[in-house]
Amino acid sequence: MTRVGIGYDSHRFAPGRRLILGGQVIPHALGLAGHSDADAVAHALTDAILGAAAAGNIGELFPDSDPEWKDADSMALLRTAAALVAGRGFRVVQADVTVIAEAPKLAAHLPAIAAALEASLGLPARSVGVKAKTNEGMGFIGRGEGLAVLAVATLEAG
Ligand code: MG
Repeated sequence: MTRVGIGYDSHRFAPGRRLILGGQVIPHALGLAGHSDADAVAHALTDAILGAAAAGNIGELFPDSDPEWKDADSMALLRTAAALVAGRGFRVVQADVTVIAEAPKLAAHLPAIAAALEASLGLPARSVGVKAKTNEGMGFIGRGEGLAVLAVATLEAG
């Protein structure tokens, strides 16, 4: 049985924070605000994996009201979610991620982000696609207020 899940996340840009996407520190004047490390790539992919298994969502598993998750490494949360669905008989086989941000330019960082996601999920190379787009200047992303991430994940039973 093949299952597909979708995930979405957005975070507001904030000064005095590091910009972390897929566990990679991206050089930029602004980081992302959040209770954890605000890694929106890890968060969206975590939700896609949980969604594919109908196993809830990241906010239920790692509530931002819980001090345990303050400044949490979101790649660890991603690994925890993959382990959770594995415990329910599913393995992640493939994922695809789109980051929507007006800045910074992410093209040079996409291979490292993909490799980090593959490593976290124990997947071979070219199992995780990572792409970046702008929002053509429109809306909160276009104004540079924050960024958003879309992710889909495919799980196989057994
Ligand atoms: Mg988030």
